[in-house]
Amino acid sequence: MADKYCVFGNPIGHSKSPIIQAAFARQTGQDIEYRAILAPSDGFADAVDAFIAEGGKGANVTLPFKQEAYQLATRLTQRAEQAGAVNTLVFNDNEVVGDNTDGVGLLRDITITLNYPIRDKRILLLGAGGAARGVLGPLLGEHPESLVIANRTEVRARSLAAHFAPIGPVSGCGYGELAGRAFDIVINATSASLSGSMPALPNGIFAPGSLAYKMMYGLGDTPFRIFAREQGAGMISEGLGMLLEQAAESFFVWRGVRPDCAPVVELLQKKA
Ligand code: NDP
Repeated sequence: MADKYCVFGNPIGHSKSPIIQAAFARQTGQDIEYRAILAPSDGFADAVDAFIAEGGKGANVTLPFKQEAYQLATRLTQRAEQAGAVNTLVFNDNEVVGDNTDGVGLLRDITITLNYPIRDKRILLLGAGGAARGVLGPLLGEHPESLVIANRTEVRARSLAAHFAPIGPVSGCGYGELAGRAFDIVINATSASLSGSMPALPNGIFAPGSLAYKMMYGLGDTPFRIFAREQGAGMISEGLGMLLEQAAESFFVWRGVRPDCAPVVELLQKKA
């Protein structure tokens, strides 16, 4: 009988995870069944219990349950601890392991797929929400020259920077303080594109040959993309690769086999 996995979220109808994980399973010959489960906003723990009771081996967790999954896990990996959130659960006999693969997903997309090294680079991370927090540890682990977190609500950027300061050269500020500075990698981890806007960035933040990376994907030519192009960013990319790489890392955590994301990008583009 196939091993059971799922993704919990609310809403969940939009999730691409079932298509991605099914493609990984076909590609690697793993016998798994993966489905999306809509958990009630106040019923995440019950939904997890019910899935374990039917023999579930593991799960992905998406909005709005990543913090709850962090609380629910009986053991956390170091990267989940650092991120303060869990997007991958493993159900063993006597424990629920909480992991976080978002950060490594972004890293693999930038350093392997886009072939853009992070070491000694000046990074600007826009946003100070869950997604920003999840990628800070892995980014700092690559030894950038500096990492600046800028956020609309300045105090959130500063407190996130203070939290991660023991790990590497990170500072926090508001968008106004970016004037006159340039960066090699600019990562947009805000949800501003959802409202058709972008952070209030000054001109000149993209150094020659820089990478502009927007975590949110699939919204076409957003204000951030247009701005990055007009300001001369060397490369512009979006978070579909990150989504696939975090899924591949979860698959690896569960099955011990690493799938290849490239063929699945084509599959998703065909289905879009
Ligand atoms: P949160 O709600 O935790 O944080 C949202 C962030 O966006 C905050 O920093 C907020 O600033 C900022 N923001 C929202 N609206 C605006 C605006 N109009 N102008 C400037 N800043 C704004 O969301 P997450 O961190 O969980 O997610 C952020 C984005 O990353 C989402 O769009 C999500 O889809 C994407 N994502 C993509 C992944 C992938 O695999 N590709 C994985 C995870 C996330 P403030 O603090 O001032 O409110």
